[in-house]
Amino acid sequence: MTAHEPSSRPATAAGPGRRPETIVVAAGRPAVQAGQPLNVPVILASNFRAAAAGLPALTADAPAGIREYARDDSTPGWEALEAVLGELEGGHAVAFSSGMAAVAAVLDLLPAGCRVVAPTDCYTGVRALLADGAANGRWQAELVDVTDTASVAAAAGKCDLLWLESPTNPLLDVADLPALCAAGRAAGALVAVDNTFATPLLQRPLSLGAHIAVHSATKFIGGHSDLLLGLAVAGDADLAGRLRRRRQLAGATPGSLETFLALRGVRTLAVRLAQGQHSAGELARRLAAHPGVVRVRYPGLPGDPGHGRAAAQMSGFGAVLAFELAAAAPADAVCDAVRVVSAATSLGGVESTIERRAKLPGQEHVPPGLLRLSVGCEHLEDLWEDLAAALAAAADGADR
Ligand code: PLP
Repeated sequence: MTAHEPSSRPATAAGPGRRPETIVVAAGRPAVQAGQPLNVPVILASNFRAAAAGLPALTADAPAGIREYARDDSTPGWEALEAVLGELEGGHAVAFSSGMAAVAAVLDLLPAGCRVVAPTDCYTGVRALLADGAANGRWQAELVDVTDTASVAAAAGKCDLLWLESPTNPLLDVADLPALCAAGRAAGALVAVDNTFATPLLQRPLSLGAHIAVHSATKFIGGHSDLLLGLAVAGDADLAGRLRRRRQLAGATPGSLETFLALRGVRTLAVRLAQGQHSAGELARRLAAHPGVVRVRYPGLPGDPGHGRAAAQMSGFGAVLAFELAAAAPADAVCDAVRVVSAATSLGGVESTIERRAKLPGQEHVPPGLLRLSVGCEHLEDLWEDLAAALAAAADGADR
């Protein structure tokens, strides 16, 4: 490595054969040496002392070269978070300033005039970025129903990037990832999967055939609604190097405080997710039986169209669900009435959040009364009492 080329330094691993619940706790720690802190400290540094004759180098900390400038060479904190996510996903992780920065880096790998295929129901920011690039002549974007495997596979045959998201935000559609990744690869396309909803604890896209798994670590990985951060994890080291180069050139670098907080957050991912997922499953069942609810979308429900696929490719169904009311007005009334759940746009935090997604631009395909619910760590019965009371208040309002 020469100075000012992106570095790829080995970082501490949980060890071969360790389970995901152990990896989130054990990976990305400082070297096991007496006197070392257990956590990589928050290091607020852009600039590092240059090599000079007679100056001892911190080679144990930076075995692949001397770290000089953070945007070029990364920081110990980023590398620690990348070590955790890389080990979880089974690839080489690159941390970015946000989930969208990670998405943009993947799109920036493509030549001008390329073709992108993506789900109609994918994160609204990704849709906006695709539409923007198409309007600027950067690429052609085709949106597809990701549950229609044959049509997506056919479209994948004519594209440079097959962008997948599963389960999708906010309709909780489930894509047949092994079939679609195989179709994309066979056609010579780059295949990327947004794994934000599942997290690597429930789904590992690289092992299902994707080239890249992408995360908004702002969500479950950080887990506390206090940071913006993204990650792209490539199965191939060269591809990870190209993503790191995009980060260096575009300057979409993560903040040191954010990576510290995300590392602290990811340590509890397994327990947070287990709690949220358990409550999400039970709330989905209760909401499905509620007379005011038209439909529940949650792949964990046996009657859900995505149930079979999710059971085959995921080890759990996640902590996000969506439920539909008859119209926008009662759905808005539910958001106004909840007190334990927070009416807020993001998801994946310890606090449960609810939002009527169709109110956002670019969500015309979403039913007007659909509420996306991210289930956090509160007591299940408090969540249910809150939702039941809010549904009753919405029904009262509609009667008046
Ligand atoms: N992907 C999904 C599925 C998301 O939900 C989001 C944000 O909501 C993003 C990507 C973008 O992430 P960020 O907000 O961290 O840029």
